[in-house]
Amino acid sequence: MLDAGLQDRFGNHPHVGEMRGRTFFRGIELVEDRSTKKPFDPGLKLHARIKSEAMAAVPTGGFFRSVPSLDSPDLQHHIVLYSNGGAAGKHGSTLHEFSGLSATTIMLRPESLGTVEVGSANPRDAPLIKSRYLEAEHDRVALMRGVRAVRKIMRQPALEPFVGDAIEPGADVVTDDDMIEYLRNFGNTGFHPTSTCCRGVDETAVVDPRLRLHGFEGLRVVDASVMPSITSGNTNAPTIMIAEKAADMIREDARIS
Ligand SMILES: Cc1cc2nc3c(=O)[nH]c(=O)nc-3n(C[C@H](O)[C@H](O)[C@H](O)COP(=O)(O)OP(=O)(O)OC[C@H]3O[C@@H](n4cnc5c(N)ncnc54)[C@H](O)[C@@H]3O)c2cc1C
Repeated sequence: MLDAGLQDRFGNHPHVGEMRGRTFFRGIELVEDRSTKKPFDPGLKLHARIKSEAMAAVPTGGFFRSVPSLDSPDLQHHIVLYSNGGAAGKHGSTLHEFSGLSATTIMLRPESLGTVEVGSANPRDAPLIKSRYLEAEHDRVALMRGVRAVRKIMRQPALEPFVGDAIEPGADVVTDDDMIEYLRNFGNTGFHPTSTCCRGVDETAVVDPRLRLHGFEGLRVVDASVMPSITSGNTNAPTIMIAEKAADMIREDARIS
């Protein structure tokens, strides 16, 4: 794939290799039972009711609008019944030894565009990936609003008996500047990169509507990279749908030719 022809194509198409990814923020709340002053372990209490293998990794979540006037939600929240740091978390990236929960925010429609470029003519060389998370102001503001919404949820009276102090971001993260600095240092990827080989008919498209690589015979791209823009939710199911549709198109084209 990295022969001279395709490298030219990468160079000629400004949108080739553009990547839409998600910035992910994992807030951590210390959880304690205020009646006993002992750490509360919601995971263990749940295990008492249901078998541990029946517990989902992410038992609850929801979609929110960063601005009420938006037509549809642009933020996704999850609550995970254990406490662990993100890849760059202040408290490490593994499961914490203290009881807690992690309340996360994912910004769904990022405007920041990353790039994936061919680094050399050797197909064994790694591509050059620049994610450029939080480059667009829109993304910084939306994610900041999401984190603030999570803080508000965690301070609701119904959770008061269980939820103690927030660990990340802590009480020292107050102003917009503090928050953005925090997100830059401790935000993480949402693992939903898409759109490096956009499907379409204009000069920026890499594959045509039937997912055939423009300018090449007998080569299609079938994966999350063909999405012209990132979906407003998780990417796995849409990728499976793309694959099923592609299988139908490949069979149809084989019958015609
Ligand atoms: C940690 C993590 C958690 C995620 N969680 C979720 C989630 O909860 N929900 C959700 O909807 N989505 C989730 N996603 C995203 C989802 O997995 C992807 O959107 C989806 O798998 C994309 O499918 P794909 O076919 O484009 O790529 P992939 O699933 O990555 O498939 C690419 C395939 O190509 C193979 N491959 C790579 N290089 C070569 C090579 N040189 N030769 C041959 N084969 C090769 C790989 O082994 C792999 O099987 C998660 C992703 C990650 C990384």
